[in-house]
Amino acid sequence: MSAISADLHANPELCFEETFACRRLSESLTELGLDVQVGVGGLETAFRAEFGPTPAQGRGGATIAVLAEYDALPEIGHACGHNLIAAGAIGAIAGLLAVRDELPGRVVVLGTPAEEGGGGKVKLIDAGQFADIDGAMMFHPYDRDLLWKPALACDEVEFRFTGQASHAAAGPWNGRSALTAALQTIHLVDAIRVHFHDGTRVHGFVKKGGEAVNIIPDKAAVRFSVRAPTRQGLDELRGRVIDCARGAALATRTDVEVEVETGYSEMRNNRTLYERFAGHFDRAAPTGEAPVDWEVGRDVGAGSTDMGDVSQVCPSIHPYIAICDLGETAIHQRRFAELAAGDRALDSTLRAAAAMACTAWDFLADDTLRGDVIREWETSAARS
Ligand SMILES: [Zn+2]
Repeated sequence: MSAISADLHANPELCFEETFACRRLSESLTELGLDVQVGVGGLETAFRAEFGPTPAQGRGGATIAVLAEYDALPEIGHACGHNLIAAGAIGAIAGLLAVRDELPGRVVVLGTPAEEGGGGKVKLIDAGQFADIDGAMMFHPYDRDLLWKPALACDEVEFRFTGQASHAAAGPWNGRSALTAALQTIHLVDAIRVHFHDGTRVHGFVKKGGEAVNIIPDKAAVRFSVRAPTRQGLDELRGRVIDCARGAALATRTDVEVEVETGYSEMRNNRTLYERFAGHFDRAAPTGEAPVDWEVGRDVGAGSTDMGDVSQVCPSIHPYIAICDLGETAIHQRRFAELAAGDRALDSTLRAAAAMACTAWDFLADDTLRGDVIREWETSAARS
């Protein structure tokens, strides 16, 4: 696990370009005795391996998936610590392979590229890679031990305005400014922000704004990320943002083209499975260490993850495990990338791997637990 984490950390790769990581991880699974398929779901840098009895073979009635992420960020490398997520997944699989012959169900390890934009897991879901999976888990490095927190549903929306170019001094009355439309869209979004529901996020930037000071810009573009606690809330919020662009186009007599790029779904957190993970994580503590003071995040910052989409198709957990002290740094900072190569990060990852392996075993072996997990998941589906 240490070598895997270090190798990935030293070779950060962006979404869908994770050829080194994909090869490194699939080779280590092959060394562990698994038959690995690379390029599953039509994604070159995705992989899958599985073991244990299938439900059809009579012994065991379920399939659990351990997910590995391994993409990095532009400029700042593994500042989200996905090298640790990958190492932890391999560690959990190694643990489960140690009891391969007694396994009460099937285990799948899925290499899921492109979490930082691109939505590898969404594509793998669409390609049917989750069709036979009853539960899924991964862990995420963080600045504190946080058993669960919301992840927002998100979309991106881009507005491209077309106006009329004209000399900005000699004949401005002949022009219609696409830049003004773009700026007014941002102002209108800010003006109506007071009406947005709690927990929503709208943030963006001017992508194109003109070419020269003496030309009224006839082309401009602005792009937003729109996020809300549920997909339903997101649909409404996105509609309001689109209205702002249409209003700005009307006022500036420009035309607007709207492009929506569907993002990730909200995380449907499964508390029953989280609590089982927490128990195992505590039991894996070094001797003499106090039990984890688990936080549950309601007022921490929420982003979005394609694990949210996985949680919509099967019960899922995505616990956050500290690799540094609270306040020392946070994800997507350069210091976090440094710490993701450190000893403390590796200790936390080993513990998370042990807890995932034990939680996977319980999910397969304990019919009562699995029933409770699935019931909670179905109820949360009915709510959202
Ligand atoms: Zn991440």
